[in-house]
Amino acid sequence: MTSTAYILIGSNLGDREKYLSSAIAMIKETPGLELCDRSSVYSSEAQQMANGTPSFLNQAVKVKTEFTSSELLTALQTIEQAFGRTDKGKQLSRTIDLDILLYDAEIVETERLTIPHPELLNRAFALIPLIEIDPELVHPLTGRRLKDYLNDEDFKLVRQKEEHGPVIY
Ligand code: ADP
Ligand code: MG
Repeated sequence: MTSTAYILIGSNLGDREKYLSSAIAMIKETPGLELCDRSSVYSSEAQQMANGTPSFLNQAVKVKTEFTSSELLTALQTIEQAFGRTDKGKQLSRTIDLDILLYDAEIVETERLTIPHPELLNRAFALIPLIEIDPELVHPLTGRRLKDYLNDEDFKLVRQKEEHGPVIY
């Protein structure tokens, strides 16, 4: 069965734009993942991290996949490792971070995986790119539209950095 998942890509170290576009290229090249859409690139200051932490770029992508959510996480972790990400752990700068925001309307709570992403509703830098792709998305646990969790202040803090034209693959 084919599922639809939304992934948030984040980077706050090195050539952040290049990391985002390389991660998307790798998603496209991964057998079993079909890239359907991507958001603009957004910029925001690091939240709840040490003073002086470099700012983040984020971009959401929509994929279709035959993978289960757990297999999808494994595939994303393989991509993270290809970027030499060894900085496992919370609150650290990273070249690339690939988080599953949504996987169909599935609710997952295992040691390894929580879907919807547990911080989704607290993170404008995830919600804003996500609803750019699909404005009517609903949170599977609350049943409310994701856009209803955003206010004007959020849109000031999460800035659209680069608008993509029509996506050409
Ligand atoms: P974070 O993304 O929280 O900054 P990491 O990328 O190092 O930190 O991820 C820590 C762990 O989070 C991973 O080892 C993974 O097993 C777990 N995890 C739980 N839910 C998710 C999810 N929805 N997407 C990605 N990773 C997740
Ligand atoms: Mg992560």
